[in-house]
Amino acid sequence: MAGKTIVILGGGVGGIATANALREQLGVEHRVVVVDKRAEYTFTPSLLWVMVGWRRPDQITKSLHRLVRPGVEVVIAEGQEIDLDGQKVKTSNGDLAYDYLVVAVGANLAPEAVPGFSAAAHTPYDLDGATRLWSALQGFKGGRVAVLVSAMPYKCPAAPYETALLLDDYLRQQGIRDRCEMAVYTLETLPMGVAGPAMGQAVVGMLEAKDIQFYPQLDLDHIDVAGKKIGFSNRDPAPFDLLAGVPPHRPPQMVKESALANEAGWVPVNKRTMQTSFENVYAIGDVTAIKLANGMALPKAGVFAEGQALAVARRIAEDIRGVEAQAEYDGQGFCWIEMGGGSAGFASGEFYAEPDPVVPLPRSGRMWHWGKILFEKYWLGEGFTRQVSGLGLNIAGKVLDVPVIS
Ligand SMILES: Cc1cc2nc3c(=O)[nH]c(=O)nc-3n(C[C@H](O)[C@H](O)[C@H](O)COP(=O)(O)OP(=O)(O)OC[C@H]3O[C@@H](n4cnc5c(N)ncnc54)[C@H](O)[C@@H]3O)c2cc1C
Repeated sequence: MAGKTIVILGGGVGGIATANALREQLGVEHRVVVVDKRAEYTFTPSLLWVMVGWRRPDQITKSLHRLVRPGVEVVIAEGQEIDLDGQKVKTSNGDLAYDYLVVAVGANLAPEAVPGFSAAAHTPYDLDGATRLWSALQGFKGGRVAVLVSAMPYKCPAAPYETALLLDDYLRQQGIRDRCEMAVYTLETLPMGVAGPAMGQAVVGMLEAKDIQFYPQLDLDHIDVAGKKIGFSNRDPAPFDLLAGVPPHRPPQMVKESALANEAGWVPVNKRTMQTSFENVYAIGDVTAIKLANGMALPKAGVFAEGQALAVARRIAEDIRGVEAQAEYDGQGFCWIEMGGGSAGFASGEFYAEPDPVVPLPRSGRMWHWGKILFEKYWLGEGFTRQVSGLGLNIAGKVLDVPVIS
């Protein structure tokens, strides 16, 4: 069998999982190549722990080379153009020809899309922002704390709500919570809308229990940096003394400019096979646009990127072996909601269920917080490269007794 080259564009959650699963399933005559512009991977769920000083940046980052299995080639370069006709990717370090392409470049943050955002808000959505938020918190003596969701879609539907709950926890520990007002401003109707209204109400209940106001359905217009106010087109300005914001997300330029993209720049795929409209070209994770049976979008989350990665790796391996590709992604997912006080909620569900996703209400307690720590250790430890691919997803099932993705 002639050796094939599989190029994986993006070495984040989906790209790493794809590469490791392929390396495990394919012989050495086949090349598995991961391209990423960054040499260091950041474990994003722990950004919220950096934000409140529970982790240092170096504790949640790891070299991409050390996260992939031996035999996976890592190319640190910026992907510049996807040449679908020529079956190659143009990068800042030369062209890479492929037999199979997996696009896993995620979503970019675009704070510049909101006037005033970069100057006024700290974002826990990247390492620099989370670190700056931690610095700002240390000098904070009280006042109005606002958490802002700028636009849809955004990564990890729980993260802004976890941000509010963890900030509340920090302020209580400092003994200054009674000198603060806290509020979440969002354009959503309810938190985590795809999981249904009961889930949304449950999260609002978590906020209310901590005296955090919830302001939904707001159209963000700008942030008044000097006046320290969030300007909306459908509500009076909201004052703040400390602002933690989720910036708008945008598809990477290279993808937006390719024939893979829809009008908004994201990549539509078959939600089970993750195949694009081009043969042997797959897309996974945050860069995709997946419509669910009820018309809502599958959220952007690492748990989905990893599940999709495993299905794609199996499909490519089956195809290379000359058997009919059977593997499919089934839309199962799970998520933690950090609640502060060493406690977390945990929810898992079937996102491809019809007519609506089925996501039972979260269970909560200290055990779930420890489950999240275990998940971090697994991802950043040796587990990911050494163990059977998919352990990341199955860890929840095996250790925490919830449905798993097989
Ligand atoms: C604060 C926060 C908390 C989160 N918590 C959770 C959680 O608890 N659970 C969960 O499931 N998800 C969580 N997420 C979401 C999760 O991080 C993403 O959904 C996940 O990383 C998506 O995986 P991906 O492979 O699609 O993209 P990414 O992991 O973002 O990887 C994309 C990679 O592509 C690279 N890239 C982009 N453009 C180019 C280019 N032109 N050339 C070369 N390389 C390029 C990037 O450098 C990056 O490494 C969280 C996100 C945030 C911000």
